[in-house]
Amino acid sequence: MTKPTVQTPVVIIGAGLAGLTSAVYLRRQGIPVQVFEASPHLAGLARSFESGDGFTYDFGAHFITNRLAAAVGFSAQCINVPRYGESFWLKGRPCRYPFGFAQRPKFVASAIAAKLNVIAKKPATAADWFRGKYGRALADEVAIPITEAWCGAAADSLSTAVGEKIPVSILKTFFLRLSGKLSRKTVAIGYCTTLPESAHVWHVYPRGGIGALCQHMADEVRDCIQTESPVEAILTDGKRATGVRVKGQEIPATAVISTAPVHILAKLTQGTDLLQPLSKFRYRPMVFVNLRMEGRGLLSDVIVWTPGKEFPFFRLTETPLSMPWLAPEGKTLITADLGCQVGDDIWKMPDDELGRLCLLHAKKLIPDAESRYDGCRVLRTPLAYPVYLNEYEPERKAFEKSTGIERLYSVGRNGEFAHILMEDVFWRTRRKMRQLVKEIQ
Ligand SMILES: Cc1cc2nc3c(=O)[nH]c(=O)nc-3n(C[C@H](O)[C@H](O)[C@H](O)COP(=O)(O)OP(=O)(O)OC[C@H]3O[C@@H](n4cnc5c(N)ncnc54)[C@H](O)[C@@H]3O)c2cc1C
Repeated sequence: MTKPTVQTPVVIIGAGLAGLTSAVYLRRQGIPVQVFEASPHLAGLARSFESGDGFTYDFGAHFITNRLAAAVGFSAQCINVPRYGESFWLKGRPCRYPFGFAQRPKFVASAIAAKLNVIAKKPATAADWFRGKYGRALADEVAIPITEAWCGAAADSLSTAVGEKIPVSILKTFFLRLSGKLSRKTVAIGYCTTLPESAHVWHVYPRGGIGALCQHMADEVRDCIQTESPVEAILTDGKRATGVRVKGQEIPATAVISTAPVHILAKLTQGTDLLQPLSKFRYRPMVFVNLRMEGRGLLSDVIVWTPGKEFPFFRLTETPLSMPWLAPEGKTLITADLGCQVGDDIWKMPDDELGRLCLLHAKKLIPDAESRYDGCRVLRTPLAYPVYLNEYEPERKAFEKSTGIERLYSVGRNGEFAHILMEDVFWRTRRKMRQLVKEIQ
């Protein structure tokens, strides 16, 4: 490997939102950067796919905020989202969040009892945390079953940090919902924790799909992005990151920024076994079944959570209620989220069978679903949600502070091993890049 010079670039692994945020920020500070992206595409989890027949499928993210769009200079290309709402399907009917819960005496009584329980012990697991914050009824019937379906693990094996990431102030939620009704904006709730939520932060959607935001950011640094170039190794001298290996070639780096999932980061990093504990961290794979249907407004809300164990999915989302342009007029798209393991029956199930399975259960919410069904498109990812198991909680907390290796930063949703959405990815990555600039200048 050649000797590093002042002009030696900072190497960035991945051209999703976190990698592009890093690249743009550092380039603006006059620091040379080189981005390696494993796949042929930019945007990672924030991609959209257009089918030739007028449907657009978002891979993961659907909703960004006007504040994120403004921060990346993309407001003019974004459209305000006209409608947003969430419900929970409980005992055969929808319960609107948050007002519907307040109308269920059982939930209110158990939430009050939990608040009054001054002798409650400090929670040790996610299950204890939910019961302490929401009361036993809401925790056992709603919060815990949904958490278990999305994590694929029992709530009493999960850390309390699972709950701590969820907004709990019902009063604040009421206030934000109400201010949204008055301003006719879809005020974002639970989408960002780094900056305060407020009536001035609402949902927008980029023209051309969610991936257009990353494409816009990439325009500023396109000359230094190399796609189809997986980083095979991160080189260290035992204490400090010194470079990477790509396509068999060693490339020196002033610093390395990884957005790769942390169990992969552990495998990539050579010359030290400091990151070995990360190799046991788990992510929850997901299958997204996009059902094409005749009609519009088939669900009671944009997002309907289905905590009932009888459902193979834990959430249905009718995106065209929020973004009518994602489906042709008179048609709609309902996405079912199914948690699974790579290689299990759900993961391997043929697409048309998955469509039929989801349809069978969607009929409980949409009685005439069968006659409206017009096929499906299935997307799969092995890496949708970080799973916060208590068994590696001490290592996760230590990793939150730093990788432990000088000049090696791990950023982004999978890179931080944090269940964060795009605005948090952006601000948190910027914060870490400010730290890096101080370190190297
Ligand atoms: C189901 C789902 C729904 C979501 N909904 C929303 C939403 O509505 N709103 C919202 O704001 N956010 C949402 N999110 C979160 C949002 O998608 C992510 O926070 C964001 O896209 C993460 O960006 P990232 O750059 O951290 O990671 P990624 O997008 O995963 O990018 C990482 C990149 O690194 C590349 N890479 C990995 N390993 C290597 C390697 N060795 N060499 C080179 N390249 C490599 C990958 O190919 C990838 O392109 C959702 C996420 C999911 C899973």
